[in-house]
Amino acid sequence: MIPVESHLARVLDGVAPLAPVRLPLAEALGCILAEDVVASLDLPAFTNSAMDGYAVRAADCAGASAAAPVSLPVAGTVRAGDPSGAMRLEPGSAVRIMTGAPVPEGADAIVPIEDTDGGETQVAVSEAPSAGAFVRERGEDFAAGDVVLRADEEGRGPLVMGPGRLALAAAAGAAEVGVIPRPRVVVVSTGDELVPAGEVPGPGQIVDSNSLMLAALATSAGALSAETVRMGDDVEALTTALHDAAGRADVVITSGGVSMGAFDPVKEALTASGEARFDKVAMKPGMPQGFGQLSRPDGGSTPVFTLPGNPVSALVSFHVFVLPALARMSGMDGGETAPWPPKGFTTHAGEDWDSVRDKVEFTRVYVDGRWARRSGGQGSHQLGAMASGMAIAIVPATATRVREGDTLHCIPLLGAGTPRE
Ligand code: AMP
Ligand code: MG
Repeated sequence: MIPVESHLARVLDGVAPLAPVRLPLAEALGCILAEDVVASLDLPAFTNSAMDGYAVRAADCAGASAAAPVSLPVAGTVRAGDPSGAMRLEPGSAVRIMTGAPVPEGADAIVPIEDTDGGETQVAVSEAPSAGAFVRERGEDFAAGDVVLRADEEGRGPLVMGPGRLALAAAAGAAEVGVIPRPRVVVVSTGDELVPAGEVPGPGQIVDSNSLMLAALATSAGALSAETVRMGDDVEALTTALHDAAGRADVVITSGGVSMGAFDPVKEALTASGEARFDKVAMKPGMPQGFGQLSRPDGGSTPVFTLPGNPVSALVSFHVFVLPALARMSGMDGGETAPWPPKGFTTHAGEDWDSVRDKVEFTRVYVDGRWARRSGGQGSHQLGAMASGMAIAIVPATATRVREGDTLHCIPLLGAGTPRE
């Protein structure tokens, strides 16, 4: 039996950030930036108004107040989209202006409509603006040639292309960005007993819930795609399916067929080819684990996680091993050694329970305020407790009992809602 940390370290050694690609902005959401974004445009692109109101020369309105308004003739109107420079402001006059419209040459302040009588031919200004008021200067946000997003900013960690950064890149004139792509996942579930979800199982058959769950986890973890393939226990057909999957995936995840039974085709196929190593990992659930590299038709290789078939074991294994690997492949972890226990949150046990000696126990818990309680039966086949859980509490291998009030370190269950402290 090997410790969880050893298997995790081996897995992380076997994966690397995917090669950067250039993607259209709309496809780069959630990706890590791999290349600086340099502005080709100024923002604002032209000096424009921050308010609906009147463009004036501040000096022309000096001393204006509600008691003594300054009256100016209105020479015209500019709206957003009017070509810049279409209008000149003559001294002693005003131009009606809308938010985002180019400020006429000669104007140096905007009087908001609220500080006027709103007149269309003549306007009474009841508050004197200061020079520059409500004027957005050309290039005040950034100028062409500025680096607006840095891929590798000292001490900042990986930069995720979130919605605000996509907008910034677009406004800066970019159509594409250089990013680390999100991984493509193929899930291969194995077992002669499996029938697709929605089908009534015959005698001895069960619904293949793992492929759906693992694909949903991969998607929740940010995978670009998560295709599912269902296979029986025939070693030859499975070997072919795995290598096919490797050709179109960045990660292959299998479920089932890795324990000590007589029909464990995943283990058989990949042990024979030497493409994966199988270990007993000191954890509960999820003891039988395998990891390796599937050879691809193009001569490369694709990492493969062979997870146990029991649904809860598969879920726990995904969170403990696959999730940090996907983070590394996506460039999210900055290449740092994954910490153990992994990032998560701390809470307190709301009840006592026994824990197995010499194995890390991953207990599905429901977190209510400050307290974590077991979310029902903890058998590795019990989906009810798994589905009502919000987090996985990590009970160390040295513990044999969790006591009410003990501090618990937890990993949030992907997509299960936000546990609160
Ligand atoms: P195995 O590791 O293939 O022996 O599977 C262990 C247990 O997990 C068995 O009880 C299987 O019926 C169950 N199991 C395997 N694959 C799946 C699946 N895709 N969905 C749900 N349960 C599964
Ligand atoms: Mg099986």
